[in-house]
Amino acid sequence: MAAAEPANADKQPLERVVIIGSGPAAWAAAIYTARAQLQPLVFEGAITEANRLDGTLPLGQLSLTTEVENYPGFPAGNLQQFLDTALPADERAMMAPHTGHGVSGPELMELMRRQAKNFGTRVVTDDIVDVDFTQRPFTLKSLEGTVTKAHAVIVATGARANYLGLPSEEAYKNRGVSACAVCDGALPRFRNKPLIVIGGGDSAVEEATYLTKFASRVHLIHRRDALRASKIMAKRAEDNEKIQIHWNSQLHEVLGDDKSGVTGVKLESTTDGAIRTQEATGVFLAIGHTPNTRFLEGKLELTPKKYIQWTTPQRTYTSVEGVFAAGDVADDYYRQAITAAGSGCMAALDAERWLAGQGIE
Ligand SMILES: Cc1cc2nc3c(=O)[nH]c(=O)nc-3n(C[C@H](O)[C@H](O)[C@H](O)COP(=O)(O)OP(=O)(O)OC[C@H]3O[C@@H](n4cnc5c(N)ncnc54)[C@H](O)[C@@H]3O)c2cc1C
Repeated sequence: MAAAEPANADKQPLERVVIIGSGPAAWAAAIYTARAQLQPLVFEGAITEANRLDGTLPLGQLSLTTEVENYPGFPAGNLQQFLDTALPADERAMMAPHTGHGVSGPELMELMRRQAKNFGTRVVTDDIVDVDFTQRPFTLKSLEGTVTKAHAVIVATGARANYLGLPSEEAYKNRGVSACAVCDGALPRFRNKPLIVIGGGDSAVEEATYLTKFASRVHLIHRRDALRASKIMAKRAEDNEKIQIHWNSQLHEVLGDDKSGVTGVKLESTTDGAIRTQEATGVFLAIGHTPNTRFLEGKLELTPKKYIQWTTPQRTYTSVEGVFAAGDVADDYYRQAITAAGSGCMAALDAERWLAGQGIE
């Protein structure tokens, strides 16, 4: 629903560039546009119960995870002193104590946010809920009812992994339950142990195949009697000796305990309801992602899966000139922090050059 028009609608500040989002893409875009003297304004999202339930609180998907082992520049090691000097004491006090095992997701995100702020980025803790991209400058309305005008907009609102919504799944997130095999598969708890992958599409097969590098066996759980994955991908799974496909089966419950995290699952037959138990140290959900684009429907061209459509190869342009997209909101293929940050940088440079072409510097 569109936010109500405030009484002073004609007096909104006019920004050079507004960035919507607060994951690696948004902070990379903010660092670059701030250093280019464009004084970016970031809407980092609102702290609401709805966002908590969706997993879209400020600081994005990485704030939901523990160790991040694949972001370049952060080898395993104790970052205590660095964190104490890089982050102000009040921000540091709000964070969980550093574990000494390299950078955690929340630490990495706080560092990115701090780096953007150090260069003058202004940050508003609010959601953008409606946009008018039909005329320039663009108009952005927030959940709290503020209206902002902007010459250029970078959308970096990310995506969220889909979960089944089982209480036991929630209880063991980061303790064996994951939605990202590439991110978590190499962790010690998954090595040479049986793992579960839930899903039947191409990404489920990809995740299952990837996990065979580490697991003793991968159990691919699918509700139907045939995979939805493309034929070539399905054959790859069926031919892989380490993958066992459990047809007509769905996850009933994740089993575990406080000490070990996930220890197994209960699977339910979709044909006769019978329950059986399968031992495993990990459960990987591969049932898709949902891009955070609801407020953009009808405003920007979206793909059939509702991701923002990049319109030009190697550019972050969208269907509206002056609106750029970065990160997972436009990328349903790579979905990594480093690729999101990379496209955030690209969007900043694209926006800067486009603004210069418009005579706005
Ligand atoms: C559990 C988990 C573990 C992961 N581990 C790794 C890992 O180890 N390594 C790795 O490289 N990748 C990992 N990933 C993937 C990585 O987190 C994502 O690829 C990356 O965060 C995408 O960044 P992004 O900038 O596109 O946006 P996101 O991180 O998705 O953040 C976007 C944020 O923007 C904000 N937002 C959304 N809508 C609005 C709006 N309307 N207005 C204002 N703000 C809004 C929300 O706060 C949202 O969370 C993991 C993902 C998950 C879920």
